[in-house]
Amino acid sequence: MAAIKAAEAGVECLVLESMPKPARKLGISGKGRGNLTNTADYNEFLKHFNRQGRFLKFAFKQFFNNDLVEFFNRAGLETVEERGGRVFAASGHAPEIVGKLVAAAEKRGVKILTDRPVKKISRTDQGFIISTQNRDFHCTVLIIATGGKSYPLTGSTGDGFRFAAELGHDITPLFPSLVALKPDMQLPGALDRLSLRNINARLLCGEKKTAEEFGEMSFIDGYLAGPVIITLSRLAIPLLASGQPTFISVDLKPALDHEKLDQRLLRDLQKMAKEPLHRFFAGLLPAQMADFCSRTLKFNVNSPCHQFTAENRRKLRNWLKELRFRIVEPGPWSQAIVTAGGIDCGQIDATTMESKIQPNLFFAGEIIDIDADTGGYNLQAAFSTGWLAGRSAAARIGN
Ligand SMILES: Cc1cc2nc3c(=O)[nH]c(=O)nc-3n(C[C@H](O)[C@H](O)[C@H](O)COP(=O)(O)OP(=O)(O)OC[C@H]3O[C@@H](n4cnc5c(N)ncnc54)[C@H](O)[C@@H]3O)c2cc1C
Repeated sequence: MAAIKAAEAGVECLVLESMPKPARKLGISGKGRGNLTNTADYNEFLKHFNRQGRFLKFAFKQFFNNDLVEFFNRAGLETVEERGGRVFAASGHAPEIVGKLVAAAEKRGVKILTDRPVKKISRTDQGFIISTQNRDFHCTVLIIATGGKSYPLTGSTGDGFRFAAELGHDITPLFPSLVALKPDMQLPGALDRLSLRNINARLLCGEKKTAEEFGEMSFIDGYLAGPVIITLSRLAIPLLASGQPTFISVDLKPALDHEKLDQRLLRDLQKMAKEPLHRFFAGLLPAQMADFCSRTLKFNVNSPCHQFTAENRRKLRNWLKELRFRIVEPGPWSQAIVTAGGIDCGQIDATTMESKIQPNLFFAGEIIDIDADTGGYNLQAAFSTGWLAGRSAAARIGN
């Protein structure tokens, strides 16, 4: 987007891309369906960013969600709005977005060289030397848009942070975000790949509720995962990083309060008085969770239901309403949807995306210390900052 905008202003643009094809991450975004942006209004949109959201205000005023949708529609991409204002490629095929973006760049004369990992960037009096394995490139104005550190198989290996640091910029601490969370306990293997729908999960800092989400969660490779966990991870990771006791408390029966749940448990136990407890559990939870529950609470599932004491019922009710996991670490970089942290926003002019340390150097996208919730916010931030960096870089060359 940065190159497209600069080329529109008549500037000669070269994109150096380390991978065999550009924009691989965009091509797998939104579970392969490309959640480009969100139709939330400006104020609501900003609420989905970390505390640096204000840094994006100017960029969003210049090029926002409606501009991005219009840009892609003009480029021949049909879009569709879905639940929660999420905008996708109507074809449900994210690589189509990449195709339209690359075509738009080529139409404006942008040259894209693939398989060209940049190894080093050096400052000269005239501009910059960009060193690749076989060749050095010289330019007067440079935009670094190398993304974050997450999902490195898409090409974003974190090189840009090194380049920026070598050019005198501070990098705020980097954490994987929008990622699974590891509990302190070893989860039973039988839970692996199990999804739980319609649960409510709360993020606790000690005993204090920090956030809550309703929806689906799952257990994957010993981690808590799935949409509600991924969303809560953005707030969990700073707590973990600062050493605070961090818990996820899952309510498996959010439609019933403690009292109603107790009545229902009692009613069902009475109905099944002579049957073994495991039959009662089968109606209450998925088999793997029933097993996890009865083992954790040490219930004898072969005993008849009428022997289930009031104390056991209280324990079960609490387990169902407040299944608590202490979180010890975020999931790996290889699976994180975004990188939290990055180039310190204080060192970038928010009205141009130009470095305050190195004139004629611009930044765009996830390399900057900005990150947001899922829902199309991260891509919009990358496109908006790219658009602004491209326009400002072109203006620099024009001067
Ligand atoms: C699985 C997944 C799904 C996602 N889904 C969504 C979604 O639906 N909606 C949303 O808003 N966000 C989504 N995101 C986040 C979003 O994709 C990113 O925030 C966005 O792609 C960041 O754009 P960027 O241009 O800054 O970086 P990237 O898209 O990572 O692009 C950086 C580019 O720089 C290249 N590069 C890096 N280092 C070098 C080097 N040394 N030399 C040359 N080239 C280099 C890389 O190969 C890459 O092509 C998703 C992320 C993941 C991992």
